[in-house]
Amino acid sequence: MTRLAAAPSPSVRVRAPGKINLSLRVGPVADDGYHPLVTVFQAVALVEEVTATQVAEGAGISLTVDGPQSGRVPLDASNLAWRAAELLAREVGLAPDVALHLAKGVPVAGGMAGGSADAAATLVACDALWGAGLPRAELHRLAAILGSDVPFALLGHTAVGTGRGHLLTPAMSRGEFHWAFATRDEGLSTPAVYGRYDELAATGALVPSADPAQDTALMQALRAGDPTALGPALHNDLEAAALDLRPELERTLEIARNGGALGAMVSGSGPTVAALARSRQHALAIAATWTAEGAADAVWCTTGPAAGARLL
Ligand code: ATP
Repeated sequence: MTRLAAAPSPSVRVRAPGKINLSLRVGPVADDGYHPLVTVFQAVALVEEVTATQVAEGAGISLTVDGPQSGRVPLDASNLAWRAAELLAREVGLAPDVALHLAKGVPVAGGMAGGSADAAATLVACDALWGAGLPRAELHRLAAILGSDVPFALLGHTAVGTGRGHLLTPAMSRGEFHWAFATRDEGLSTPAVYGRYDELAATGALVPSADPAQDTALMQALRAGDPTALGPALHNDLEAAALDLRPELERTLEIARNGGALGAMVSGSGPTVAALARSRQHALAIAATWTAEGAADAVWCTTGPAAGARLL
């Protein structure tokens, strides 16, 4: 007698990228309590992969995670992927029944928006699995509800973000840029970094201004695909605040600069440090020096730009 194997449950797999802020300019705090931003995002090839598998009706949402640092990721309803599945189900009037698996390739709590990438990938995956067929613009609207970095994880490549970073305009970028990242196990709270930024602004140590005109040289370097011009144009208004809270990051920056990085900065609200390298070999050499000098808990080498959330 031939035994028939049970048919596998339908599943879809979606990949979405982490990001770096090539420029992050922070305006004075507005009436709603938020700082208006002008930021230039670049998606990088450190990616999250979300698999959404059909489950029995009424089974609800379940979540599993693997990958480096996956022990630091919540497995309950606070996970952004879980929230994305819930939101999409509510929006299209379906029961949120799905098994989600996250294969994490973006450093956790490093300011590189790995959780946001999971949320973007989950929206695309559940939309396909449940046959919802929402237009991309609708997925972007839901993404912005989940978090200000989620829309960019949907879009990918290079884009200018305004508002809270969620209003996006795609930007032209030629060629490939090589990056090395130094991450730390102990995170840096984004609200604490903004708090210190406000304190520094109150003393006059810095002047909040979110003027896109300040990024002209950076946009030119991207259009030309010129890493030598991009390096000195990298900018992060939050760097001073992050360094104030974590002075040891100065050494990580210095090692990258001494190693010939074309540019080095704290990434977003930190504590990740990003270095722009001349080549893949050069990125590996900077990462190796960070490791040898004990200036990072983990190192990562990758390229940008990378595509936004897409079905595999
Ligand atoms: P942000 O700057 O948006 O706070 P981040 O980019 O620094 O985030 P993430 O890896 O996205 O870092 O996650 C930050 C925190 O969010 C984690 O410490 C974790 O507690 C929580 N979190 C919620 N959902 C996820 C997820 N899917 N993956 C990783 N962390 C998540």
